Amino acid sequence: MSYKAWFKCFNDECGQTYPLDEIVYECKKCGSLLEVEHDMDALADKTPDEWKKLFEKRSATTSYPYGSGVWGKKEWVLPQIDNRNVVSLYEGNSNLFWAERFGQLIGVPDVWIKLCGNSHTGSFKDLGMTVLVSQVKQMIAGGAPIRAVACASTGDTSAALAAYCAAAGIPSIVLLPHNKISTAQLVQPLANGAKVFSLNTDFDGCMALIKQLTRTESIYLANSMNSLRIEGQKSISIEICQQFDWEVPDVVIIPGGNLGNVSALGNGFQMMRKLGLINRLPQIILAQAAQANPLYLSYLKGFKTFEPITAGKTMASAIQIGNPVSVHKAIKTLKEFDGIVEQATEEELANASALGDRTGMYNCPHTGVALAVLLKMIKQGVVKKDHRVVVISTAHGLKFSGFKVAYHQRQAAGIECEYANAPVELEPNLDSIFKELDKDR
Ligand SMILES: *Cc1c(COP(=O)(O)O)cnc(C)c1O
Ligand SMILES: [Zn+2]
Repeated sequence: MSYKAWFKCFNDECGQTYPLDEIVYECKKCGSLLEVEHDMDALADKTPDEWKKLFEKRSATTSYPYGSGVWGKKEWVLPQIDNRNVVSLYEGNSNLFWAERFGQLIGVPDVWIKLCGNSHTGSFKDLGMTVLVSQVKQMIAGGAPIRAVACASTGDTSAALAAYCAAAGIPSIVLLPHNKISTAQLVQPLANGAKVFSLNTDFDGCMALIKQLTRTESIYLANSMNSLRIEGQKSISIEICQQFDWEVPDVVIIPGGNLGNVSALGNGFQMMRKLGLINRLPQIILAQAAQANPLYLSYLKGFKTFEPITAGKTMASAIQIGNPVSVHKAIKTLKEFDGIVEQATEEELANASALGDRTGMYNCPHTGVALAVLLKMIKQGVVKKDHRVVVISTAHGLKFSGFKVAYHQRQAAGIECEYANAPVELEPNLDSIFKELDKDR
């Protein structure tokens, strides 16, 4: 059986299609974003059980590239790619763990954390980037005049792009907002040899510029407005179901900025349902930082209107975005999944992140936003104590050490750091150690 996929205009009234090897990011007829559409009839040639068995058999094996969490589902992601062009660093297959003590603390025992940041470059962006860079490699092999791949980034997209391009031997270019990303995020693309431009603007400013830069066909666009990224990130929901032995959780909470990942999450669940691997959908809750909350504001108005904003400064820097490119995809997904949007203030996200850490996690601030929103959902009665909840953890906490240091030194501006735990400086003798320990009695 030959499986096929193509770009289709996201605007249903238009429906224009384009081949995946065409250099196109927005519909040439109507200007809407594109999405990747699969030949679902062809995919229905296998029974749900056959797909499940195939995915399970490939998981975390060494048979290239199928051991990857993304390429183990190759037929559902990018069926026409030649394996020789796949650029994989064995992304995905990230752990989904039971947050037992955290769940007990908050009164919902069945809480799980999907650690998407436990991946090659420390964020879920690897899942989309492996697909995009593989497609580029195939296009270059076919003679496409691409000399570099470029993105605007809040830090994690650029790290992933630089790593996958370096692995493929393709030049990469990244536009970063000056002083608005973590040190680790800045050094990642430098180490991987990307051309790094640090610009005196915010992410939205970098995004506007990258759209212009990539109008020339020789520089290919790697931001999530290019829906190839979404195809790889879709593997998150498939992995979650596989890890639960194909049971669907009740609620999934995910932090959102440019809003590509939430639609990827939704697409994965929809595809599994259409092909019969699951028979219901979870509720999806999108968590935003209150400082960068344009979707929350639109949600309050029933999504009737959407107004971009200028994002304020937030410690959750990877979602400091005021004009999200994929907003309409996100709204469609939320409508299909009984969706809710909630926000978290700086104090709420920092304390929720630290509370999670106290139970053995090591959260990035964006995961903190999702955990803070989980606490609010419990208070509001949306999440009930018998619900199975999955929190999508989007990046590794070690990329955000500055955030944690400031918190534990109580230097996070304007914030009551409830769980701060600063080092105690002591003279090097047992007496002073015991004196300190006795204070806690
Ligand atoms: C990119 C990113 C997000 C937001 O994902 P979107 O698809 O832009 O909504 C959240 N957290 C982290 C750590 C990220 O890198
Ligand atoms: Zn169109």
